[in-house]
Amino acid sequence: MSSSIKEKNKRILVVDDEVDVLDFLKIYLESLGWEVCTVPTTEAAFKELGNRAFFLVLTDIAMPDMDGYEFISKIKDKKFPSEMALMTGFGYNPKHTLVKIYKTIRYPCLFKPFNRAKVAEAVQNAWNSYHKDLDT
Ligand SMILES: [Mg+2]
Repeated sequence: MSSSIKEKNKRILVVDDEVDVLDFLKIYLESLGWEVCTVPTTEAAFKELGNRAFFLVLTDIAMPDMDGYEFISKIKDKKFPSEMALMTGFGYNPKHTLVKIYKTIRYPCLFKPFNRAKVAEAVQNAWNSYHKDLDT
């Protein structure tokens, strides 16, 4: 599968069941020069991942079809090389699943409503990390 091969790219895959969140992130991240693909389900996300390489998958944690933890585990199982970041609408809560995930696997978490600077920083860090072993 070609998408499991790492290649230089500016593409972000955003996965969230809330259309407002997808719309906001598409407009905001494209204004920063990134290429953004938005999908409302993890099933659609795997289709996109099978077609193209994305340096970052930014995923909601609470989705009807699959929780974010299961989703990122499957991405890793399938050996997609994308960086990962998680987002949630629940705000910071030390008992939240997202905080537990962060403590165990160290993916960045973004809390809604978004702090734009934090979103921009997380994306840039992911781009740097993805590309550090590629010729740029
Ligand atoms: Mg959700």
